[in-house]
Amino acid sequence: MIQDETQFPVWCDRCATDAHIVIESVRRPHWAPCNFLDVTYFCTKCDSLYEHLVKADELNANFAEVVDGLTNRVRV
Ligand SMILES: [Zn+2]
Repeated sequence: MIQDETQFPVWCDRCATDAHIVIESVRRPHWAPCNFLDVTYFCTKCDSLYEHLVKADELNANFAEVVDGLTNRVRV
């Protein structure tokens, strides 16, 4: 179950872009695989809300400026 979810990037399915994504929260659940973060984000264009696991590396690469403050609390 978790394996499939971890494959999803931070992305809006409806708009088919990440251009309007705003990260709301990043957490490190105890059940998550090593190096994965549980991310909640929404699309400001279509108001879709998403929450799933994202690879920490990928998140840092694409949303470094947003995640920096959040991961300080999370400790990747
Ligand atoms: Zn959207």
